[in-house]
Amino acid sequence: LTLADPVELHRICVCVRKRPLNKKEITKKEIDVVSIPGNGVLLFHEPKQKVDLTKYLDNQVFHFDYSFDEDTSNDLVYRFTAKPLVKTIFEGGRATCFAYGQTGSGKTHTMGGDFSGKAQNSSKGIYALAAQDVFLLLQQKRYTDMDLCPYVTFFEIYNGKVFDLLNKKAKLRVLEDENQQVQVVGLQEMPVSSVDDVIKMIEKGSSCRTSGQTFANANSSRSHAVLQVILRRRKQLHGKFSLVDLAGNERGTDVSSNDRQTMVETAEINRSLLALKECIRSLGQNSEHIPFRMSKLTQVLRDSFIGENSRTCMIAMISPGMSSCDYTLNTLRYADRVKEL
Ligand code: ADP
Ligand code: MG
Repeated sequence: LTLADPVELHRICVCVRKRPLNKKEITKKEIDVVSIPGNGVLLFHEPKQKVDLTKYLDNQVFHFDYSFDEDTSNDLVYRFTAKPLVKTIFEGGRATCFAYGQTGSGKTHTMGGDFSGKAQNSSKGIYALAAQDVFLLLQQKRYTDMDLCPYVTFFEIYNGKVFDLLNKKAKLRVLEDENQQVQVVGLQEMPVSSVDDVIKMIEKGSSCRTSGQTFANANSSRSHAVLQVILRRRKQLHGKFSLVDLAGNERGTDVSSNDRQTMVETAEINRSLLALKECIRSLGQNSEHIPFRMSKLTQVLRDSFIGENSRTCMIAMISPGMSSCDYTLNTLRYADRVKEL
């Protein structure tokens, strides 16, 4: 895999990451429909049949800022995606990194990874790797002089409602004042003084995400999880890094279910992912109008879509098996739209 050096990032960076075929896919002898020659290129080749029943491969070529193959480690993905954004928050900006893709494609693997103390950098996720870099920079002379204090929030958005993962999944209200400032009322913002402190918050929030009593625990793949690292300078907001593990996008194409609850969830996930696409595109076009009110997700992230110093990175996760090819194509098209300016 060949990779250029991380570029001085433009405002929007869109990448793809292919995971390896898993045991089940190998057992079923599924063919791999995705190849990554490098340099941001991804080839999608789906076997098809012509009307006369002869088989052929339908090839489609996609171009992104980076394309990561199945042998790429978490820390390499990090180096090219979220790492360049850490500086942004020290410079007083807003940074956002999204993991997009169908359930099982590697979003949580990439974001959360292995956050136990023993984990090597290669298996740690973007959460922990970003936290490490934040604390490294905090120790640099030019930043120690600035008196920056780091905090962490961790919350989940399910069906248009916000739940605090650091406070027993308390349901929170989102308010917008007359200046369009959006506030999540009562969201716990925990002070952290080391990488270990951040890891403890990630552990706490992650276990809250997948277990517990409320209905929203039913399936973490139907919710968006947002971890934020916030820098404050004399109590004032200085920089904010939002790391978002998005809800699985396969719901967007699943219309087979008649279950009302599932239909409501599906509509909400569709709406939020559509809103996200539109908001990122308006960021790229420096547009005056940002349709952030279209969904709770984009409303909560509003301040990340505006301002001179806002940067976004999206990592689209790809399951390479033939059985996922419809979802994979959806993911690739979505990522392609986000990048298009
Ligand atoms: P998602 O959060 O998108 O639903 P996960 O991150 O939970 O998917 O990944 C599903 C499974 O695939 C997990 O067991 C995970 O460890 C594995 N996996 C995902 N991406 C990779 C990868 N790049 N390399 C190895 N295993 C991976
Ligand atoms: Mg997940």
